Amino acid sequence: MMLGYLLARRGLNVTVLEKHADFLRDFRGDTIHPSTITVLGELGLRDAFLAMGLPRLDGMSVVIDGERLSLVDFTTLPEPDNFLVFAPQWDFLNFLAREGAKLPGFDLRMNTTATGLVFDGDTVVGVTATNGLTVRAPLTVAADGRGSLLRAAAGFIPHELGVPIDVLWFRLPKPDNAPPPTLGYVGDHGMVLTIERGDYYQSGMVIPKGTFADVQAAGLPAFRDALTSTAPVLATVVESLQNWDQVKLLSVQLDRLPRWWRNGFMCIGDAAHAMSPVGGVGVNYAIQDAVALANALPDGVVPSSVLAAVQARRERPVIRMQRIQRVAHERLKRPVNGGKRAVPRPARALLRLSQPLVRRVLARVVGLGFLPEHVDG
Ligand SMILES: Cc1cc2nc3c(=O)[nH]c(=O)nc-3n(C[C@H](O)[C@H](O)[C@H](O)COP(=O)(O)OP(=O)(O)OC[C@H]3O[C@@H](n4cnc5c(N)ncnc54)[C@H](O)[C@@H]3O)c2cc1C
Repeated sequence: MMLGYLLARRGLNVTVLEKHADFLRDFRGDTIHPSTITVLGELGLRDAFLAMGLPRLDGMSVVIDGERLSLVDFTTLPEPDNFLVFAPQWDFLNFLAREGAKLPGFDLRMNTTATGLVFDGDTVVGVTATNGLTVRAPLTVAADGRGSLLRAAAGFIPHELGVPIDVLWFRLPKPDNAPPPTLGYVGDHGMVLTIERGDYYQSGMVIPKGTFADVQAAGLPAFRDALTSTAPVLATVVESLQNWDQVKLLSVQLDRLPRWWRNGFMCIGDAAHAMSPVGGVGVNYAIQDAVALANALPDGVVPSSVLAAVQARRERPVIRMQRIQRVAHERLKRPVNGGKRAVPRPARALLRLSQPLVRRVLARVVGLGFLPEHVDG
């Protein structure tokens, strides 16, 4: 959607295909980081976006074994984009769709699934889609997420980096006297996420990969107990979980394509590199890819050297962030797999002492990424 907007803004004709009829799904990220707010500013969309009145956050704090640690302080970043916005994906994508609709070249087709690529010899020259649609284009971009059909149609297979955890995803009402916004709680039973969404938390619980059936077999009361023992603040609201239909399994994936492009075709976002929830960076990295690609694209025929250069540019920051995510996964799986603390006491003491530095460094790493992109022109 962002790439479609960027290209249509340049006066190009872009067809964006979305297989669903709306964007109302829970399973994608909520965090719009400072890097993305800056991009919106460069596009002249910042004020309209902020006027939506979505919750803002100056930093991220985590409660580890009962102790609140402030780990990210976005206010240490350059003004004015020194905060995070919690924007559910449906709000963010609807916003971009509305703004895109104002551009003559932006053609969003909802309820339209891309079904395959059209080749001319070795070169991709378009896509086939449902409703008997074929779209021909000098460049076809797969931005269809981690299960990308177009990536497979191009003959690309991602390299799996291995993830030891999954996330159970559910909503909880906010308790009375809710604490300040908290990214999550880490304790003996793992990690519980509490993402702000107005009057409720989009909550998540980290479990060892492939064990949802075991969690279900142990029963809802045991699940609610595990939640409250990790995040006691939720004790008064966990009773709202009354059946397993309220709890969705989100399989966490981390992978990367060795090659993101072929003639006339490029993968970006999760289609090129599936990101895990750690740091809430995936949406923002997908947008950075879109900005880098839009900046690099000439009008008309797209030489493969341009696509190779975009991969070379974006691959490095992605690899670095995925390394961080892998380290975090190893930490998070510790308590849930039996015993060891995610953050041992000495490490926590060190964290406490170095909080000012940690806050500053993580604000850059999480909020801006390793190579923040800026819209040309
Ligand atoms: C549990 C969990 C929590 C996360 N939390 C965060 C977070 O808080 N913040 C964050 O930044 N990141 C988060 N992430 C990562 C983030 O969700 C992804 O990195 C990000 O959504 C990738 O964006 P994308 O546009 O590449 O793909 P997606 O967001 O997956 O979008 C792909 C789109 O393509 C559509 N589509 C798919 N196939 C087709 C087809 N064949 N034809 C037409 N349309 C199609 C889909 O419907 C979808 O709209 C989280 C990930 C997980 C697993």
